[in-house]
Formats: sequence, C-alpha cells, structure tokens
Amino acid sequence: MNEYDSAKMFDLLEEKEDFEIAESEDQADLLILNTCSIREKAQEKVFHQIGRWRKIKDKNPDLKIAIGGCVASQEGENIIKRAPAVDIVFGPQTLHKLPELYKEKNRTDNNQVDISFPKLEKFNHLPVQGKGEPSAFVSIIEGCNKYCSFCVVPKTRGHEVSRSIEDILNEVSILADKGTREIHLLGQNVNNFKGTLNGEKSTLSKLIELTAKIENIDRIRFTTSHPHEFKDDLVEVYDRVPELVSHVHLPVQSGSDRILKLMRRRYNVEKYLNLVDKIRVVRPDMSFSSDFIVGFPGETNEDFQDTMNIINEVRYDESFSFIYSPRPNTTASDMEDDVTNEEKKERLKILQTRLSQLSFGFSRKKVGTNQDCLIYGQSKRDPGQLQGRTICNRVVNFQSNDTDLVGQIVNIQINEALPNCLRGNLQN
Ligand code: SAH
Repeated sequence: MNEYDSAKMFDLLEEKEDFEIAESEDQADLLILNTCSIREKAQEKVFHQIGRWRKIKDKNPDLKIAIGGCVASQEGENIIKRAPAVDIVFGPQTLHKLPELYKEKNRTDNNQVDISFPKLEKFNHLPVQGKGEPSAFVSIIEGCNKYCSFCVVPKTRGHEVSRSIEDILNEVSILADKGTREIHLLGQNVNNFKGTLNGEKSTLSKLIELTAKIENIDRIRFTTSHPHEFKDDLVEVYDRVPELVSHVHLPVQSGSDRILKLMRRRYNVEKYLNLVDKIRVVRPDMSFSSDFIVGFPGETNEDFQDTMNIINEVRYDESFSFIYSPRPNTTASDMEDDVTNEEKKERLKILQTRLSQLSFGFSRKKVGTNQDCLIYGQSKRDPGQLQGRTICNRVVNFQSNDTDLVGQIVNIQINEALPNCLRGNLQN
C-alpha cells in the first residue's frame, strides 16, 4: 500500500508541479518520506532518516522535508516538535494535498500539517498515469474497521471506504491500454470491499469478475484479505475466473484460539482451516501465504506450539513473521506481557526456520515442471537474466537479453530451486 501511495505522490507532483525525481538527495528541492508505523522499529527509522536529511538541509536551507504515511498520521505536529527540520506533515488520506501543502509552505514559510481523513476525496484527485508496468497496484478500499487488538491501522488510515467499481475499472482500463497485464487489487481489508456498481453496493467477487473481462488483463491478485470476511462467493470466484492467481495471502497471525480471541481476529483455528479446505477444493494447487505474530502478550509455549501446528497443517508457501510490537492507542498495548524478549526471539527463530523449510520444499517441487511466468523485468542482480513470477507467485530467473519479453507471459522450464527463487530455461 505504501508503494502504491508513494507512486501516486510522484505522479501528482509530476503532473501538477512538473517535478522530476532528483538524481541524489543533495540535489533535491523536496525530500519525502512515506512512513509506516505498523511496528515500533519502522517508526524509529523515521527519526533516524530525518536526522540524516537535516544535515543536507543545513547546507541547502531552501530544501523542504515532507513526512507522509502512518507515522505522520499518528504523530501529527509532534513530528515537527521532535524534528524541527520537517516542513510538511501529511497522512495517507491527504497525500493528494501534497502539491498544495508544498506551495503553501513556500509562500508563507509556515509549517503545513494536514492529517485529516476526508472521505474518498483523495481518489478524485489522483492522476492515473500508467507507465505500462507488467504488474500494477490498484487501491480499491482504504482503511480498516476491524480493530484487531494489536493493530494501529484503523487509527492511522481511518475507517473503511470503498471506491466505486466504475472508478476502479476505469483505472484498470487505462493501465491495460498502456500494457499492464496483472492487476493487484489493494486494501487493508479487501474482502470487505463494498464499492458501488450503478449506485448499488457490490462485492470483491463481482469486481474481480469485471476486472478479468478487461482486455489484456491476464492476472489478478488481491491483498490483504481478512479470513473472517472471506465469504463463499469469493471462494467460488476462483472456480470461474482463471485470471485470479493461485496464490492467496490469508494472514492467520496465530494458531492458538486463546490468542486469536485476545487479538480480536473473529475466527478460530477450525474456521480458518475450513476456509483453507474450501479454497483447496476449487483450486487444489493453491499456494497460501500468511503473516504471523509471535510473542503476543501472554503467549505460552503451548500457544506457540499451536501456531507451529497450524503451519504444519496448512503448509504455507511463503510467510511474513514478526515479534509483537506494542502500538499506541491499541488495546493489546495495555495487556500484561510476561513473555521475555529472549523467549520471543527464540520462538521467532523456530517459526521462521520451519517456514523457510516449507517454502524451499515448495520451490524444489517445481523443479522439472513448466511454468507460465509473467515477465516483470530484468533481474536486479544480473541484467543478462529476466525475472518473472509463476501463477503461484514464485520468482523465476532465466537467461535472456530479450527485453521485448517484459510484460509477456512465457513458458519456463524450471531446473533449479534456490531458497528465494527458481531458475529455469525459456521454452519456445
Ligand atoms: N490488514 C492486514 C494487516 C496488515 S499489517 C490484516 O488484517 O491481516 C501486516 C502484518 O503486520 C499483520 O498481518 C501482522 O502480522 C503484522 N502486525 C500488525 N501489527 C503488529 C504489531 N503490533 N506487532 C507485530 N506485528 C504486527
């Protein structure tokens, strides 16, 4: 989501103010930091970065520093109090105002802070440029109403607001015309999408079906889905829409019913596993990924073992895992936490080792198979190689200098599995 927001900030400044990306920080007139406050570490990084930028500002007093994103939304004016080098503070819902805030700062020299939540106003002001990238994000719903006890998102991004289906399809069509083949529908909780179609509330499954009908759109992904709202109509759409990829991110967070309840996740292990089974019935080759939080307040060894059990049961293909981090104004931050830091680190290590084993196992199973891959571009490490993704989201590298293949779906024979990617040969 932050990547999408950052791209939009640039499109906006390019369109409205003729900005270009500076070659280096020293040459910039404006430095923007789009921040994340999901965990404390991400938040602390913000102030370290501002500290580095302050030195550039000492040499170039005309330089302006703008802080956006969720730390900005959470801290507001306090950012400027703690870091007076900052000129502009804006939130995820006011990023469309950035050119205006920048102008105002230059005109009056007054610091500009706007972290309000004007409903959907943002989307009406964002340009859709489409640069012909093979895969493009499209935001469909903003904010979250779930209030999981650990999570700061409802406070920083506000309540759920869905864009209209017409508006989204218009953006998808523009992207498709420019050459985009894969659409990644985005939101904090996409399953609760309630955008209107002809003035009536609709659903994510309907949106997926309509997106698939747009010419040139061959792949559709969505992130993030909350298991509680993954309803049957969404499961069924996997049966009807082959463009919907065989990979789903279904964050379970914990495998202990007791902890899930304390997290306010609104499902238990049985319900979650039922959902996984239902999806596997319509897509037997489905690859599942998840997020995990270890060391939630009061998590016992037994609770942790339950999480290891669900990992072994579902056999996740790829996952993201974190040590619990208390966040301001969340209910979990008031819970008593008697799990030591060492214990948490140890649990994370055990969990990540198992997840890597499973992931590597999935990669190895692909060796000897042929996979249709959407080519994203050249490999970052070796420009003599191209990089693509399989339908189940595995990265594949193969030898080729033919950059005309970028944006195409090609068949690759997989001949090697590495821990984080596959290698193969282009098939004719
Ligand atoms: N909307 C998504 C969450 C997005 S945040 C959802 O409901 O699943 C991405 C991940 O960060 C979460 O899934 C969770 O695993 C992790 N996370 C969120 N808050 C956290 C916290 N306080 N401490 C540690 N990890 C956290």
